[in-house]
This record gives sequence, structure tokens and C-alpha cells, in this order.
Amino acid sequence: MKNLNCCCGEKAIYWRRYSGQRFCRDCFNQYFERRVLETIRKYRMTRKGERIGVGISGGKDSTTLLHVLNKLKPKLGISLHPILIDEGILGYRKSGIETAKNTCMAVGLELLTASFNKETGHTLDELQRTGEQKPCTYCGVLRRKLLNQTAIEGDLDKLATGHNLDDEAQVVMMNYLSGDIERLHRLMGNAANPDMIKRIKPLSLIPEKEVMIYALNNNLRTSADECPYAKHNHRTKVREFLNTLETDQPGVKFSIISGWEKLINSMPPRGTNILACKVCKAPTARDKCRACELKEEIKIKMSAANMGLAD
Ligand code: SF4
Ligand code: ZN
Repeated sequence: MKNLNCCCGEKAIYWRRYSGQRFCRDCFNQYFERRVLETIRKYRMTRKGERIGVGISGGKDSTTLLHVLNKLKPKLGISLHPILIDEGILGYRKSGIETAKNTCMAVGLELLTASFNKETGHTLDELQRTGEQKPCTYCGVLRRKLLNQTAIEGDLDKLATGHNLDDEAQVVMMNYLSGDIERLHRLMGNAANPDMIKRIKPLSLIPEKEVMIYALNNNLRTSADECPYAKHNHRTKVREFLNTLETDQPGVKFSIISGWEKLINSMPPRGTNILACKVCKAPTARDKCRACELKEEIKIKMSAANMGLAD
């Protein structure tokens, strides 16, 4: 009869289709934490003594990341500094903020915060009502800027984010679909630049489903609320498409990532001409960074709206 138990003999709680392995609760936790450590070492993500920022939202990915890094930090010799960005999304962000605060308090870490409202004078809800971009455009550009800015102010060496394998496969696929080879190249990591904090993604080789199982296994309190603007996001369609593919062909998300790595590594190195934004000095390929462009556009739109000139 087929053995449905974990290799240790305990009752399995998870069957990993793409490898055929079954895991009990304890073996799954060990596997998961080992996998994160291996990923950090494989890509030389951290060095002893570094101050690592951790982008945290209260969701399962970032909460799991903080929990695992907190366990691994004695082995890695790093310190952790969680950062939360409040975009200002009514009915969504509040529970995430509460959860993130509680998580940081439980592990004794001080939470650094920044908000769209402080940076631009407006919440994301206000921006999407008056501005001409999609909410995810404001959100992505401003969140990236604020994470970087807060990490610089906090004298941090790197910034860890909770992106998992699914997120990575989605973004690679989206760039294939738009034929954006330059962005596919840039996804490999930002160029050495003292004004740009290097991003690391310790969960990038772990499927989303396994992150969820780890969070449940360890009773991590996470916010399950979904952003009301997610439906505007092209990524939602790509996610559904990749999930369908994965059901038919287990392991396809890993193949997408390894194919992309091979492709980029076989290409000649790209010379990136990085300039300093003439407004905020942030690194950019143009004379003004995208965040400053958006902030300018927001200012014009908001004052037109205040004068009753908006179309
Ligand atoms: Fe931001 Fe869009 Fe994600 Fe909502 S769905 S959190 S607006 S990027
Ligand atoms: Zn700028």
C-alpha cells in the first residue's frame, strides 16, 4: 500500500506535487527554514553584521519572512529592522498595520513607518480618485521610493521583501509578455549604487502555497484582507494563468525562474547609465525619477480639482 506518511513516519500534512515528497508539521518547518537559509546563501544575500530592513505589511508573506529571518538571524549574524508603508487604503490597510505592529512587538523589533499621506499630502484613495494613473502605478512607485528612503534614513544595508516564487514567476512572465528585456535584466538586482538600498528576496524560491502552510503551521497572525484595487492589476490575470499551468505541469513556476536566470546570465552585461534625480537625488535612468514625476502630476491634478477645473 502507498505510504502516505512523512519520511519520519509521522502523519503528513502536505504533499508536494512537484517533488512527490510528503511532510509532517515538524519536517515541513525544518525544510522551509532550511530552504530560506539556502536561498540566502546561494545568492549571498546577507553578510555578517549587516542591518537588514524587512518590508512588512501584515500579510502572510512578509509576516512569515520576518518570523523566519528572526529565527535565522543568530546563524546569519544580522539585525532586523521592519519597515511598514501605509498607502492609505480605507478598509484594507488598517488591519494589516495592526497585525504588523503586533508581530513586531511579539518579536521585540522596533517598527519603522512611512506613509503616502506624509510624502505626498494624499492617501492612495485620494490619488486614485483624482490622478490619471491606475492605483497600482502610484502604489508601486511610491512604495518603492518610501521603502528605499526609510531604509537609507535608518542606516540599513539591505532591504528584504516577502516576494515568493509565485510573485517572481508572475513578474518575469509579465515582462516576457510585454517584451521588456531591459526590465527582465534589471529584475536580477539593482546596480551597485550608494543611493539605492539593495533588495533581497529570501522567499523567492518558495511557492506561495508553502508560505501559507508555514504561516498556518506556526499560528502566525496575518491579515487576509485583499486590496480593493487588486482587480485593476494585470498581474491578477497572469497569476490565474500560471496557477492553471502549474496544475497541469507541476514545477512550471520553477522552470520560468530558472529559464529567466539562464537567459539573463547568457546575455552580455548591460551598461546602465544611472543619473541622480534632479529633484530628490534618487538614482534614475532619466533626469527626474518616476516618483518625482508622479508627485508633480499629483500636485497639478489636486490643485485643478480644488479649483473645480478637473475634467
Ligand atoms: Fe497597491 Fe495595487 Fe497591490 Fe493594492 S493591488 S496593494 S494598489 S499594488
Ligand atoms: Zn526624484
